Amino acid sequence: MCAASMTVTVGGGASTRLWTDNWASVGPLHQFATTLFAAVSRAGRKRLLRDALHNNHWARDITGAPTTQVLCDYLRVWELLRSITLQPLQPDRFVWRWSSSGRYSVSSTYRAFFAGSTRLLGAKELWRAKAPPRVKLFFWLALHQRLWTSERRKRHGLKDEDACALCDQAAETGSHLFLRCVFSGLVWLALLGPLQLLPLMPVGDDDLGEWWIQQRGRIDQASKPLFDSLLLLIAWTV
Ligand SMILES: [Zn+2]
Repeated sequence: MCAASMTVTVGGGASTRLWTDNWASVGPLHQFATTLFAAVSRAGRKRLLRDALHNNHWARDITGAPTTQVLCDYLRVWELLRSITLQPLQPDRFVWRWSSSGRYSVSSTYRAFFAGSTRLLGAKELWRAKAPPRVKLFFWLALHQRLWTSERRKRHGLKDEDACALCDQAAETGSHLFLRCVFSGLVWLALLGPLQLLPLMPVGDDDLGEWWIQQRGRIDQASKPLFDSLLLLIAWTV
């Protein structure tokens, strides 16, 4: 992680390691010239850039056999180091890629680990909701259309018809059962009414997860746990 995230702007070369730090345009030299690096002595591998360039000391660190590949790598590194001019009065600057200031921070690193990851709708909310584990698992399946509803069983050839068992008016999908079914609508009405939460009633919504997250965004922080538990338990009971 560090090797991929830290680059060095070289000043005097007093803090930068020649082989292992990411200071050159070609990346760390131990990756740029792997065969040559394998032939460098143990002490030479830790050589600082300043000491390595002084009188071309780095060339004397090569102790392995001078095979053709080693010589090829040697010429490439030689060519690269020839053009380097150090500024002894300037400190080397280590730049952290994941923060705007270039300084290392734990939070920027933590965020970088999750760059490009996708967020599963409702995962965090469901994890925190207070309900028995089997109800949460059930609701997780519902969010991902993985409940064995009549519609799904018919689709898999396990059943001849897919009508809703509660209202017999439409195909029994997850969104029908919890959001559109007239029977479920009455259950919602009976339970949300006394809690003054009627505006949260589903009205022809299609996606359980989207509806849930949208509705809980409309209520105050203190009511969210109540609404979450209520929703999960009602869905389970339905
Ligand atoms: Zn129904």
